[in-house]
Amino acid sequence: MNKKSIVIATGNKGKFAEFQSILKSHFDKIYSLSDFDKIPSIEETGSTFRENAFIKANAVSELLGVDTIADDSGLSVDALDGAPGIFSARYSGRDANDENNNNKLLSALNGIENRQARFICSIAYYKTSGEIHFFDGECNGIILDEKRGNKGFGYDPVFYLPEYKKTMAEINPDIKNKISHRAKALSKLILFLDKI
Ligand code: IMP
Repeated sequence: MNKKSIVIATGNKGKFAEFQSILKSHFDKIYSLSDFDKIPSIEETGSTFRENAFIKANAVSELLGVDTIADDSGLSVDALDGAPGIFSARYSGRDANDENNNNKLLSALNGIENRQARFICSIAYYKTSGEIHFFDGECNGIILDEKRGNKGFGYDPVFYLPEYKKTMAEINPDIKNKISHRAKALSKLILFLDKI
């Protein structure tokens, strides 16, 4: 691998495509975990988004000997003391899926007035030299009491954006890609890469 290679520590095709299109002018080669055989699954044992992003970036970089970018994201709801937080993907248990997670969230907030929430994304950029940089992004919204829209994924159908009068699952994906927690964290990463 040449010097300007980077691994994005994800096997998720959609997420990789998003990172790839944004980072393509900064690196000669951009790899995802799907480009490598036998990458063991990495346990996210951290207690914050940053810690989990670091754990993934560090583990993959040490395994492959290449600079690595990883992210961790999720939904934080004020009235639930930040839950589902780092457990967003598996909120409703081992066999969690988006529908069960959203149903569990709506039940947990049943009758609760404070619906303030935010999506959070932390990106960790780990270099083989041991250098580590973090880039965080947030997107604020309100949890509805029903699902609306069929775009996006995860908690998008219950996450309402007052400014757009639509849920994240109703807005145009081009807009989501400008205002989302991930977009904001990514734009900080780009600013950093532009400077070095
Ligand atoms: P991950 O960081 O991609 O593993 O995301 C963890 C979980 O957070 C996902 O499974 C979703 O439930 C939730 N999540 C993260 N980003 C979004 C988003 O943009 N919309 C809706 N849900 C999201």
